[in-house]
Amino acid sequence: MAAEHPRFDPDSFRRQAHRVVDWMADYLIGVGERPVQPHAPPGAILAQIPDAPPEMPESFERIMADFARIIVPGLTHWGHPGFFAYFPANSSPPSVLAEMLTATIGSQCMAWSTSPAATELEQATMEWLRQMIGLPNGFTGVIQDTASTATLVALITARDAKTRGRGGDGKTEGRKDGMGEEANGLPVERLCVYTSEEANSSVPKGARLAGFRPDRVRLIPTHEDCSMRIDALEAAIARDRTEHLTPACVVATVGTTSTTAIDAVPAINTICRREGAWLHVDAAWAGSAAVLPEMRWIFDGVAEADSVVLNPHKWLLVNFDCSAYFVRDPDALLRSFSASAEYLTTAEGSRVPNFRDWGIQLGRRFRALKLWFVIRTYGVEGLRAMLREHLRLAALFAGWVDAHPDFERLAPAPLGLVCFRQIAVRGKPPGGTLDSLNERLLSRLHATGRIMLTQTRVKGRFALRLALGHLTTTEAHVREAWELITRTATELGA
Ligand SMILES: *Cc1c(COP(=O)(O)O)cnc(C)c1O
Repeated sequence: MAAEHPRFDPDSFRRQAHRVVDWMADYLIGVGERPVQPHAPPGAILAQIPDAPPEMPESFERIMADFARIIVPGLTHWGHPGFFAYFPANSSPPSVLAEMLTATIGSQCMAWSTSPAATELEQATMEWLRQMIGLPNGFTGVIQDTASTATLVALITARDAKTRGRGGDGKTEGRKDGMGEEANGLPVERLCVYTSEEANSSVPKGARLAGFRPDRVRLIPTHEDCSMRIDALEAAIARDRTEHLTPACVVATVGTTSTTAIDAVPAINTICRREGAWLHVDAAWAGSAAVLPEMRWIFDGVAEADSVVLNPHKWLLVNFDCSAYFVRDPDALLRSFSASAEYLTTAEGSRVPNFRDWGIQLGRRFRALKLWFVIRTYGVEGLRAMLREHLRLAALFAGWVDAHPDFERLAPAPLGLVCFRQIAVRGKPPGGTLDSLNERLLSRLHATGRIMLTQTRVKGRFALRLALGHLTTTEAHVREAWELITRTATELGA
């Protein structure tokens, strides 16, 4: 049997699209009634999907039915009001609608000429975002898929600033100050990267991928508040200098994933300028908070950095994926990432930005559209109101933890995350260790299907993390979560 050649049928598309939108609205209304994460054992979903692809066309009705029957129950619902795990990965109606338009248009945004409006809207929205977070206007933004990619891009640029030989285009790599005779033509084996032991896993991974020797990636110890110890950074650099190694890059974190610790960027910047090292700031999660004037302090010193990344897909209501990468010197990026080929040649040439030359991928999605929809729909003041509410809820929850005799907080909570643990059961010390008590608490909480938290270790101690930041999270949800946590905690045997 032969199947028909696929063709566009506007009537069925319209009908199916309306059905999908109805499903989407119903999902968003009812997501809180579902278990926040599935309980199916590994392989249970795979087992329901045929081993081989269908030879013949299947109806939209069948596909949608299987989506609802097999796929949806197997999902973790990141937009569930009881989802407090990892970090927020957001979604919002204007962002969803823009994604539908993006998919419909199917733009490929590798170069200006392949979708001029996409490139120019990316320039405009990155400029808006730069103003929103208070970066000085020397910074230029480009959208990357994820913070991991942006950090890899920063590390590659930092590497090239040190390894590229003299001659070339004669431009100074990175910033002139501090870049001494050694600034060029070094073998990568001699270069070191510094970040804190609390840095996101994407930093050491990125350093490895950028070709730095794994044993030259220094994970600097942290203070009690989990921020990088500047004395330890100084000591590591001094040790490396005596071995004739060269600091190429320091990655500072504003808001670590584990506890939202904030490194002392001004002090790190002073060291980077003196050493001629690239300063990249990973503000993937917390960076959005800088949209609030009263939280700008988290970006102290960031104005002096070489590059910074934040994820609107985490805490700014934009659907995954959308990472904003800001650089002081786009030419340094272009020197590392320009690609040319006859089939890429366009009449405009380098008179326009071709964003394929600003990162790793050639093909690029049209990500600026959803950012534009979101910023316009809510306005900067609307986004500020949301961020303020999340900060208020986090402070409220932290206060409940602090006031409860059976619980303690394990880290400062300046942003949307509270790290805490149970320390007693109805006022009595627990039978086993606190770590095992809290592991049991977490697994009991997850068994309810009503909330999801994740765990971390804070200075070696097992901690529960409650991360806030979804569009739909309200005080009532946070209160319910706390009631469930305290009630479950009393049921654990003392
Ligand atoms: C989430 C996070 C990342 C990774 O972000 P992706 O966009 O998923 O790559 C990096 N750094 C920090 C501090 C994060 O919180």
